[in-house]
Amino acid sequence: MLLLGDRPCKSWTGWLSMLPGIEVQAWVDSTIVLQWLQEHPRKWEKYVAVRTSTIQEIIPPSKWRHVPTEDNPADCISRGMLPEDLLQHKLWWDGPKWLPMGEENWPPRKVIEKKSEKVQIPEEKSVNSEVSNVIVLTSQSESSVDIVSQLIEKYSNFMTLIRVVAFVLRFSDNCRKKINERNLKFLSVHEQNRARDCIIKNLQRKHFPEEYKCCEKNNPVSKSSKLSKLVPFIDDNGVMRVKGRLENADLSYETRHPIILPAKDKFVKNLVVFIHEMHLHSGVYLLQSILRAKYWIVGMKSLVKSVVKMCVNCTKAKPKTETPLMGNLPAYQNQLKASRWKMGRIQEVHPGRDNVVRVVTVRTSDGIQKRAASTVAKIPMEEDSY
Ligand SMILES: [Zn+2]
Repeated sequence: MLLLGDRPCKSWTGWLSMLPGIEVQAWVDSTIVLQWLQEHPRKWEKYVAVRTSTIQEIIPPSKWRHVPTEDNPADCISRGMLPEDLLQHKLWWDGPKWLPMGEENWPPRKVIEKKSEKVQIPEEKSVNSEVSNVIVLTSQSESSVDIVSQLIEKYSNFMTLIRVVAFVLRFSDNCRKKINERNLKFLSVHEQNRARDCIIKNLQRKHFPEEYKCCEKNNPVSKSSKLSKLVPFIDDNGVMRVKGRLENADLSYETRHPIILPAKDKFVKNLVVFIHEMHLHSGVYLLQSILRAKYWIVGMKSLVKSVVKMCVNCTKAKPKTETPLMGNLPAYQNQLKASRWKMGRIQEVHPGRDNVVRVVTVRTSDGIQKRAASTVAKIPMEEDSY
């Protein structure tokens, strides 16, 4: 049994290890310190939290008890005493009278006052500061919508955002598992898809709250809604999709039932930019058809046009070509009358596949040339001139 002061140091660990099989009991005369030691360090301000956690590692909270100030031998020296008085001081040398008399004669354990009694402990964190340090990403609460919105604002790159959310979800899963069962591998495609669905669910709740609630209850969407013609429904992962009329078509599930998204959201814009770049800076029409295979973006056309228009690479790759200044047109022989055309003899005709002659080979005084049949005229001759 040890009678201790108010703060043990690390060297106690060595002392305690030298006393195997001996039960250690620690005493403190401050009720506030006792309360610090019996609660989780997270509850206190950083200075106290660091020290209490160090002490708790050496001596567990259950081993700490309260000693009344008048029975605390540590006070004999700390309050000052002459050496000759100390030699005769029984409390210093023997400890409190009740100590060797067994646990039943010790002072009763101090019961910690709970918060309900509104007792403010020094160095206790305020409720707000404690809450601000804890971020919980759940799929149900409204606060998760805000957290996802904050992450969307923070990360402009689509894949970075997906990875961040995937790691947050993995952390949430790992916290519920034993240490040796935790997932510490590279992110899988499944985890990334789960993160994407998590973000999309939150977006849908934010932009289409009434429609989402109706779908959750399996009720039809109001006729005044933009989505009424799409006949939306919620899939197994909680994502709202288009029911449409392609149920029997030989297409993938995602194409038959595309995910409904709003156009006026930063995440959707980043998604369109990502797909535009992934498909080698596809044009407006191609990009729309690629997107439609998975997503139904309400107001897609204007969003896609603006993304392509704002793309720096596309602008650089498609500069406006300058039309060169054209020279004078060459003299056209048809400007002359046919009677003044150069004389020649047709040597060969070149019929096309349809057996119509459009090109002929002509011998003139300048040589042999191929000419269009339309530029050749037969010399008008009377039959009796032969
Ligand atoms: Zn581009």
